[in-house]
Amino acid sequence: MSTSYRSTRSSSEQTVSFEDAVITGLAKDGGLFIPSDIPTLPSDFTSKWSNLSFEELAFNILRLYIDNSEIPDADLKVLITKSYSTFRSKDVTPLVKLDSDPNLYLLELFHGPTYAFKDVALQFVGNLFEYFLTRKNADKKEGEPRDFITVVGATSGDTGSAAIYGLRNKKDVSVFILYPTGRVSPLQEQQMTTVLDENIHTLSVKGTFDDCQDLVKQVFNDKEFNSQYHIGAINSINWARILAQITYYFHAYFQLIRQLSEADKKAFKLKFVVPSGNFGDILAGFYAKQMGLPIDELVVATNDNNILNRFLNTGKYDKVAEVKPTYSPAMDINVSSNFERFLWYMIKNTSAGGDSLKAGSQLSTFMSDLSSKGVFNVAPETLKAAQSVLDSATITDPETVKTIKETYQKTSNNYILDPHTAVVF
Ligand SMILES: *Cc1c(COP(=O)(O)O)cnc(C)c1O
Repeated sequence: MSTSYRSTRSSSEQTVSFEDAVITGLAKDGGLFIPSDIPTLPSDFTSKWSNLSFEELAFNILRLYIDNSEIPDADLKVLITKSYSTFRSKDVTPLVKLDSDPNLYLLELFHGPTYAFKDVALQFVGNLFEYFLTRKNADKKEGEPRDFITVVGATSGDTGSAAIYGLRNKKDVSVFILYPTGRVSPLQEQQMTTVLDENIHTLSVKGTFDDCQDLVKQVFNDKEFNSQYHIGAINSINWARILAQITYYFHAYFQLIRQLSEADKKAFKLKFVVPSGNFGDILAGFYAKQMGLPIDELVVATNDNNILNRFLNTGKYDKVAEVKPTYSPAMDINVSSNFERFLWYMIKNTSAGGDSLKAGSQLSTFMSDLSSKGVFNVAPETLKAAQSVLDSATITDPETVKTIKETYQKTSNNYILDPHTAVVF
């Protein structure tokens, strides 16, 4: 099977390679890249993959989404090993049991270089950029212009640090990260501003995160500037980020099976509750489920910035004017970029009657309504389809604090939750 990528807004069956999807980030029509087909798993994967390491699982899963002709087996293995060698845990993403509740486990995604879950994807994305650019430049003669990427991104903390640690010292990649002065945590500010590699540029902007985001958008929308500097995206609109995250859903499943009693193994329900902002983390869970991982429930957990929760209750996707600052700033968003990918599948299977091109055109209309009117409504059957895959919940700041406190008191090892994680309880 050959793997190619299409745009969520495309009005033709045209596809691009994995490399182009990763390097360009966003499709020309403004849509996001999705695989033309979601690959299915080998029928014996539950036994065959049951004792694989994180890296071996990553290889098997990534292999299904990247053609051998684009990255041969040996190279893909090197990329994966290199990406996860920077993690402090040998399991990369260990599953730990919290004894405050008999059925509660926590998938620890914070063992990467910057402690943000985004390391899981951005360590890999950095190596992938380097791999593709090295290959493009391999035959260039002295003095001939080289292929390069200029990454420009805005951050409220987590994305910036993780991107910098993923891309530092990568040849032919320059990085410009904008953060709002005084509005990121002191630790994250130090992480970003103490990296001295020549290709890393951290800019402190007097303003809010939205001001930073607006500046980045201006850069992306300036076609001339963009073609001169080859602006690349490292936020989760980049397909490679979603792809790299699929692995830990599988890894969580197999770690869980190994921890369960024989009796529980025979009958258990698997529910993932995911703290969500741009819908990248949970989208990887959706792909895992579509591939055939037996996930019974996927729950989108949001803070007060709950556009996803409102949508799943009403079918109305409406942007609010202002983001509300909360204790979980990495989830403070007013629209969720990756939700577009999920919606494409829901629309395709309902109002578009299975037709990919109709789905692209309907989604395209919705997205232009969102930018002109700030709102769109999906058909009732599309909402129903979305509700059959996703549950949702909204947690307030006081509830977040209460959860951190209670978990600390009720767990025998006094487990301290991060405020984003605490949104899922
Ligand atoms: C980025 C981030 C999130 C939100 O993840 P999405 O993929 O944008 O939904 C949640 N928690 C933490 C700690 C993060 O860094």
